[in-house]
Order: sequence, then C-alpha cells, then structure tokens
Amino acid sequence: MTGKLTARNIVLGGRVQGVGYRPFVHRIAGRFGLAGDVSNTAGQVLIHVEGASDAIARFETALITDAPGLARPKVLSSTPYAPRHAADFVIRKSTSATAGDAHVPPDLFCCPDCLAEIQSPSERRYRYPFCNCTQCGPRYTIIRDLPYDRVNTAMDRFEMCPACRAEYEDPFDRRFHAQPLACPDCGPELTFVANGNQCVGNEPALSATLDCLRDGVIVAVKGIGGYHLVCDASSDAAVMRLRARKVRPDKPLAVMFPQSGADGLDMLRAYVRLTAEEAAACLDPARPIVLAARRPDSSLSTALAQGLSELGVFLPYSPLHHLLLEGFGGPLVATSGNISGEPVITEIADAQSRLADVADAFLHHDRPILRPADDTVMRVISGVPRLLRAGRGQAPLELYLSHPLPEPVIAVGGHLKNSVALGWGQRVVVSSHIGDLDSPHARDAFARMIEDVQALHHVRARHVVCDNHAGYASTKWARGSGLPVTEIGHHVAHASALAGEYPDMQRWLTFTWDGTGLGDHGSIWGGEAFLGAPGDWRRVASVRPFHQLGGDRAAREPWRSASALLWEAGLQWMPPVERAALAKEAWQKRVGTVQTSSIGRLFDAAACLVMGLSETSYEGQAAMMMEAAAKPQPGATAFPIKRDEDGLLVIDWADVLPALMDKTRSVETRAGLFHEGLAQALVSQVLMLQDGNGFDAVGLTGGVFQNKVLSERVVALLAERDIPAFQHRQVPTNDGGLAFGQIVEFAALRQDAAV
Ligand SMILES: [Zn+2]
Ligand SMILES: [Zn+2]
Repeated sequence: MTGKLTARNIVLGGRVQGVGYRPFVHRIAGRFGLAGDVSNTAGQVLIHVEGASDAIARFETALITDAPGLARPKVLSSTPYAPRHAADFVIRKSTSATAGDAHVPPDLFCCPDCLAEIQSPSERRYRYPFCNCTQCGPRYTIIRDLPYDRVNTAMDRFEMCPACRAEYEDPFDRRFHAQPLACPDCGPELTFVANGNQCVGNEPALSATLDCLRDGVIVAVKGIGGYHLVCDASSDAAVMRLRARKVRPDKPLAVMFPQSGADGLDMLRAYVRLTAEEAAACLDPARPIVLAARRPDSSLSTALAQGLSELGVFLPYSPLHHLLLEGFGGPLVATSGNISGEPVITEIADAQSRLADVADAFLHHDRPILRPADDTVMRVISGVPRLLRAGRGQAPLELYLSHPLPEPVIAVGGHLKNSVALGWGQRVVVSSHIGDLDSPHARDAFARMIEDVQALHHVRARHVVCDNHAGYASTKWARGSGLPVTEIGHHVAHASALAGEYPDMQRWLTFTWDGTGLGDHGSIWGGEAFLGAPGDWRRVASVRPFHQLGGDRAAREPWRSASALLWEAGLQWMPPVERAALAKEAWQKRVGTVQTSSIGRLFDAAACLVMGLSETSYEGQAAMMMEAAAKPQPGATAFPIKRDEDGLLVIDWADVLPALMDKTRSVETRAGLFHEGLAQALVSQVLMLQDGNGFDAVGLTGGVFQNKVLSERVVALLAERDIPAFQHRQVPTNDGGLAFGQIVEFAALRQDAAV
C-alpha cells in the first residue's frame, strides 16, 4: 500500500439487501486493495474500510457507480474512523434488526445466468426449477424477518449440501450469500397430484403436468407468490372449462408465453402487437402482466378476453415457469389461483381443498410462500407503464413523504382491490395487492397483512387511517382496532395519492373519477374534481347527480344506471328486464335508490344504451367494453357544463342520451362519441376553473383513468392548451392506491395541525 493508512465508516441505505450488495462490496474492496469489513443491519449496509485515502475515495465512488443492477444504494453517511489495522476484507454476520429502517427486496425474475444454467445439460442445476443467485429468485414472498439472511427465510428448512455451501461461502461465486440458493440435491422439489395419486420429483412432476396441459386439463401450479390456474391458451374447450368452473364467465385471463428470440418477446409478438413501451414493460424486472392489443388473426382462444381488444400477456419469471412454457412450446393461460376477487392461494392444503372443483391436477412444491403476491399488472398509458395491480416483483412499494409523520400509522385502504400501507417517519411501505374484502378468507388475509407489514419492518402503528365508508370491511377493522382512527374521504384519498407522488407540485386541480366512493350526506361520488393540495382540498366540479337504482347492484347491472338517467331526464324508457315496471315504481318512490355523481355508472349506462349490455360479471366490464369498442370521434361535442346552486361545475349528461340511443350510428361511433364528450367536458371544466383559481397542474386519478382511450385523449386535449396533466407512476390509479393516499392526507392534516 502507498500512502498513509486511513479508515472510514460508510453507511448505505436504499435497496441494498437481497441484491448481492455485500459480495459486491467485498469484490471492489479487493479491487482497490482495501481491508475492513461489511455487514448488514436492518435495511442498511455498514462498511468499515481501511487503506490509502485516494483508494478509499475511488472505492466510495464505485459503491454507487458499479453497484449490481438491481441495487439502489444511497450513501447515508461517510465518516473518518480510527484504523483497526485489519488484515483483509471480510463479510461479517448480520446484526439483528433493531430500528424500522429495513428495506424488503422484491421477488426477482430468473436472471440470464441462471436461465442459461437450467438450459445447459453440463450444469448441476440443469432443469432445476428453483435455481437462483444473488441477482435473482424469491425475496418478498420468502422473508420471515429482517435482516435478510437464510435463517430468516422460508429456505431455513433446507440444509445446504456441501456443493451449495461452498458456493455460498465463496466471495468470488455468483451465489456468495445468495440466501434462497438451492440445488437438486438439497433444495425444494416438485410434487404432482391428480386423482388422488401423487408423484414426487422434479422431472416426473413436470412431465406429468405437461401431459395434462397438452390434454386440455386445468392444472393449479404453485409459483412464487401463489398458485396459478394454468391451461392451454389456444384451446377453446380448456378455456371455457376454466371459466365455467371458476364461475368467471367474462373476466379476461392472462396468458404467459415462452421466452424466445433476441429480446425474449418473439412469440409474444406473434400474438399481440407491442409498442416499444409495452415491450419494455414486459421486460420490467417485475415481469408483469402487460395489456397489449391482440392480433385479430391469432390462434389464441377467443374466450380469453371476450369483448375486449387487449390481452394481458407476460413472460415466464421463475425457472419453473420457464421449464413449463418451454416444455409446452406455446402460450398458457396463467390466471390467479383464487376464488373470485380473493387473495391468491399460497398453501398446498388450501389449494387442494379450495381449488378442488376448478383444477384437475396440482403441481406443488415444498418451498413455503410466506405472503401472497399476485402477479403485477401494468398498462402503458400516455407512453408510461402504469400499475393496475402491485404484486410480485413490485411489492412492497416504497414511497416517501415530503414531511415526517408524527407517529407510525397504518392505512387500511378501501374495500375492493385492497392493499394496506404502513407509514413512519418519511417512509411509506405499500403491501402487495390483497383483493376484495367480501369474504372471511379475504378479511383474514387482510388482517394478516396488517400484522405482517408491521412485524417485518419492526414498526408498530399508533394510529389507523381508513376510508369514510362505514360499510367497508377495512373501515370496520379500523374502528375495532383499538387505535385512534382518522377517516379520510374516498376521493380525497385518491387526490392525495396522486399529489403524494409529485411533492414538488403546490396546487392541484385533480379529477377523481371512479365507480363509487362515499361523498357528502350519504351520496355516492365518482365524478368529482378537487382544488388544492393534501390536507386542503375543495370540491369544485362534479357530475349532475342522479338517483341510482338498486344500490351496489347497479355496478353489475348497467340497465339500472341507464334507466335512472333516462327517467331522470324525463324520457320514455322501459329497461329490457323482467321486473321493469316494478323497478320504475321503486325508482319513482326512491325505494332503495342512492344519489350518485359517478362516472363509472355513466359508463355503465352508456354500455347499456350503446351495446345493449344489461348485466355484467366483473367490476369495470362495461367501461372496458365501451373502451374497446370506441372509434375516435374528434369532432364530437362536449357534454354541457352547468353551474349548480352550490356553485359546482357539473357535467350534464341529459342532452347526450338521444345520441347514445341513436341506432342509425354504429356501436363504435357511439362509444367514441361518449369518450370524446367526456374528455371534452373534463377540459371544459379545467378551462372554466382556470380563472382566479391558480393551479400548477391537472391531476387524473381514480379507476376511470385506467381507461387508456379516455386518459390519453384528456392529456392530449390539455397539452394542446399547454396545461400539464399528471397520472400515477408509482401506485395504482384504482383503489389499490388508496392506502398511500390516506397516509399522505393524514400526514398533511397533522402537519397543518402542528403549524
Ligand atoms: Zn440468477
Ligand atoms: Zn445443494
């Protein structure tokens, strides 16, 4: 060594665990001839380094610039320290988690090195379904506690064989300290079960599964974050059987394709049209399901996404999925193994009993899944991939607040598409998608997730934030939790979720369009716009309210919304259902009706009037079918805007109804007119509110903005007028983003109270 011996202590935060960061530090210390040690604490990497000061400086730079691809290191502190005259550089055992600064790494897709290994007959992990290394493999779904060490994961039950241990302990091996590391001799194994017969062993189980799939059989396959129901995506019979058994007549089914070609997307491109952004989204490290336009000539079953032009597609992400897809040689349906809307099933016994009527066969493995992580879903809107569901590979989402919270808080989200969030200091961690909270199973999973997110981060919430709807299971849980409760209005939470993603923006005009959320005086909102910022929102625009017939049933029966609009407008109409006269009488007497300003229900009504859709089988179906049908109608006029007695600017839908019912025009034209009229109406509201209200940006949030046609048209119309519009980039625009918004709003309210 040249120069005087100096030493520094360096602390790094960010994503530095579960991504091969400590071995990397060890390697670069070697490269610069430095001594010392590196260790993990809860969420941080601590380095003591000794050597010449210029070498240490270059080492510090390399800690960031040369970091492994999946790491996101941040230097938290770097201080001079007394040299210990260490002989070499070592990796120390982790110290146990103390403070709540742990970062849980997400599950990672099978890296190219591991993929090459499972395809190479000379490797000892040839065709091994659980191959992984420091750059890939499960994390979030197998971590029991932090720090991230093998004893704290679901892999602790597997004793490493001598060959694996040698790799684990060799600093120059790519499996050095790879916690889930395993091989055919010592790691997890597949078991195939059908008709009461069991077949243990990776190769026999795989080949039995492939035989089943080729015969059109439905197999429940245990993956990374839960089970999939898998069948041949080109077989109408198999797909229809799956639909009938899952009691899922219409809801789209995701399709997984074998990875092929230079970027892995060749086969996928033969079935769907991918834009550059959609291709990039397919290759995102989360390997999400991406919505893409299906090719009309594709040989896939038409029953996969009836009435829709897009298909959810994705690549295999674990070695097991690669082996299955390669073995099958074509696209496979891979839809969540759950009961309608519930969390994805993770336990073998649960799968065997609860999926018994759906799957003919089961492919299990014995690596436990400690928490569910459904597949992540993305849709590219305005050129940016937007999360529709945050799950495997994305969860837990990590976000930051611009001001620290006074105390740790748990936000319990909404009722549908539920996820929960834990906030403390300036950090917010959002759980994976849990599901709809209609069943006891779902509510159990929800309660477990609340406990889990606190235990994992060693943070105990002292306050709970929830929706203001008393009927939501999440609100009921909050009220029974024993903690102080703050209720946040549904649409205010949406607006704050968006604002929380763009902390530099001071003042917003935010449109929170969705299907349903509780408003004032027991009314249901869903077409509102708010002016202001978190902690200080004022409702300034809405939709002309109407009396929705049948309460919650309206969402599944579009004829109810259509009838309400037509009757409200004084038009003659009898819905195409048996009990029409009775329904009209109930509506006139306001029996079982609720006042609403929901854009979601407007979409329902339009789908009934334009397409004759009177019943649906899944949430959002009417709007999705309208979107799929819509042909651009740039010349269409806006829905008129009127000012109501409270000074709110309301969108009036009445004048548009005759055009929607005009059968001399095609379904495509009318669906297009509806989208264009709404987009123009939103822009009219923006322009009318511009005077005297001063806002920096227009925000678009709420489930309605999952609609790409509508969102992109609004953004384009605003761009023509140089008005910036923002949508979510980090949390879902649907109710999956509510929990984050609840925390942002709570933080702002507390901040204001403290001033
Ligand atoms: Zn790997
Ligand atoms: Zn081994």
